[in-house]
Amino acid sequence: MIVDNKFWPESSELPLFEKIDPTQIEGQVETVLTKLQSSFDELKKTQEINWDSFVRPLEKIYFGFHRLWSPISHCHMVLNSEPLREAYEKCQPKVVQFGLALAQDPFIRESCEKIRNSSNWESLTSGQKRTIEGKLLDAKLSGAFLEGEQRKSFNEIAQKLSQLATEFSNNVLDETKSFSMELSQKEEVAGLPASALSMASAAYHSKTQKPSTPEEGPWLFTLDGPSFIGFMQNADRQDLRESMYRAYVKRASSGDKNNWPLIDEILELRLKKSKLLGFDNYAELSLAKKMAGSVQEVIDLHESLIDAGREAARKEHQDLQAFAEQKGHSGELRNWDVAYWSKKQQEHLYRFDEEDLKPYLPLHTVLEGLFGLVRKIFGIRVEAQPEGFSTWHNDVQFFKIFDDRSNQHISSFYLDPYSRPENKRGGAWMDDAQLTAVIDGHKILPVAYLVCNGTPPVGDTPSLMTFREVETIFHEFGHGLQHMLTTVEEMDVAGISGVEWDAVELASQFMENWCYHRPTFDSFAKHYQTGEKVPDELFSKLKNAKNFRVASGLMRQVHFGSVDLDLHSRFTPGGNETPNQVVKKSAERLLALEPLEEDAFLCSFSHIFAGGYASGYYSYKWAEVLSADAFSAFEEAGLDNEEAVSEVGQRYRETILSLGGSAHPSEVFESFRGRKPSTKPLMKHMGLQAKRNSL
Ligand code: ZN
Repeated sequence: MIVDNKFWPESSELPLFEKIDPTQIEGQVETVLTKLQSSFDELKKTQEINWDSFVRPLEKIYFGFHRLWSPISHCHMVLNSEPLREAYEKCQPKVVQFGLALAQDPFIRESCEKIRNSSNWESLTSGQKRTIEGKLLDAKLSGAFLEGEQRKSFNEIAQKLSQLATEFSNNVLDETKSFSMELSQKEEVAGLPASALSMASAAYHSKTQKPSTPEEGPWLFTLDGPSFIGFMQNADRQDLRESMYRAYVKRASSGDKNNWPLIDEILELRLKKSKLLGFDNYAELSLAKKMAGSVQEVIDLHESLIDAGREAARKEHQDLQAFAEQKGHSGELRNWDVAYWSKKQQEHLYRFDEEDLKPYLPLHTVLEGLFGLVRKIFGIRVEAQPEGFSTWHNDVQFFKIFDDRSNQHISSFYLDPYSRPENKRGGAWMDDAQLTAVIDGHKILPVAYLVCNGTPPVGDTPSLMTFREVETIFHEFGHGLQHMLTTVEEMDVAGISGVEWDAVELASQFMENWCYHRPTFDSFAKHYQTGEKVPDELFSKLKNAKNFRVASGLMRQVHFGSVDLDLHSRFTPGGNETPNQVVKKSAERLLALEPLEEDAFLCSFSHIFAGGYASGYYSYKWAEVLSADAFSAFEEAGLDNEEAVSEVGQRYRETILSLGGSAHPSEVFESFRGRKPSTKPLMKHMGLQAKRNSL
């Protein structure tokens, strides 16, 4: 028996969404948490600690908790309302507190240590060992092994760091908001498209309450992403681009919103924290939970990307310079010219309109193509279930996945395809609706949520997608497959659970590769009225545009990644060198165009100072290397050779999709690829020449 709840009773295979009444949430959460707590207290009385007596019952407690909270938090994202939000916000602190208290309870750490030191250890499965080791590592990183003064100082540092992160990101937000540029002359906004003008006109009106029209202005431009990028890419007036650019790169670097002192303090405290835990530096601490084995491995990745990309990026810059001159620009390109001329060059080379492609991409055809692909490569069958499930909205579809050979039902998922700005969060994501587990000897099948924000059908016109949205659905479905095709029975390491941060995007990005494979593309891209395929010319523009200025983008990412790594490993806080000197040195070496003297990008680098990416920014490229290399196994077999593709697909399913977090990602990757990951396939996909070959 699990601890039951009204929204998803034990007797039901799926959540009962119609039962989620906001007025009942708080009561249910309290009742269930109290019961779970007493199950935990009961568990603590266990004398004989082993896998079955300790981990299984603990899994059951988490499982009961997940069945309560996951449908509520899902509804909070896709069916938001004032009463639901209130109930959610009231319960969230209790839920967080419950999770923390459980994770930090010394009983868990001590029991894990007992199992680890027992004579049975070697007889445990890899997934069981990874579960125990993962719990011990979490305990270590949360300071659970420290005592006395050390523990006190660890907790103070943790507290202070979280405060500094909030301050850092507030400064960035405040400084982003504090600048704006008001324009009232038509020639000042020359070059800007209608969408940008109407956004700027609305911004002017909302700030001043004075009248404005998109055509006649006045307009207000800000440093907010869409406004800033739109202006930099399109505004013909170079002097105005310069003002915007200078304001942007200086954000939060002086005055009372200055992030420089915060950066010093954060780096120093992170180093202290790492030393308390027995690491040499913060990068080592961060890598303890990642696939990359050492700082050197990440440096090697960066160096091999630099070898392949640096010259190519310089060449791209020269080409851009030549193009701009040809089109009337005089003098060297400055920092505020790059986005503008790049956009012009891209249009010149690959001009195609997103709109031209959309009629070929109706949602139901895209799904047919996607499901056909996974049937071919992984031997699974996706079947729509028109009824028999409870839902939060009429547009939601429900599917079951079967193993094609055995006909066995292996998992299910919901698809919520369309945008509903009134109550649904934007973007696309995959989330686990039900975890994989073994409860009382009974195997529980995984269930996923797949959420997108596509255009709903209008009249006779079906939902038509942009190509970017198609890539996104392939991406999220890739995450979903790793969750749904797991064969692991230990909850902490089944599916995407317990997969290291820098490896988790492998399964998702892998799927995106198929979008550019012509036969796969043709299987999902068919004109919704005529059924025609996309003309060759349009397809090749799409394919070529993918690698436009690819080396420049790569070098920028490597620059960010190396600065992040360097600051958290080699750099000494409070020493002779400043963090800004680390940035300048890297920029000089890696970028085709050096940043301005006053450029203070570190002061708005929230990813690493206020987000979870500290010493992990490299993960973006790391995961891309893995996914491209995994895809290249299919290319080597021959993408159009169905038999060979399904053979490699089977191996991919049995390793990457099936093993999830139950083994170290390097081991999982090697068991699929038969060797260590190589950077060559990614470079090849980017049209660059790999000179070395390491990861
Ligand atoms: Zn992803």
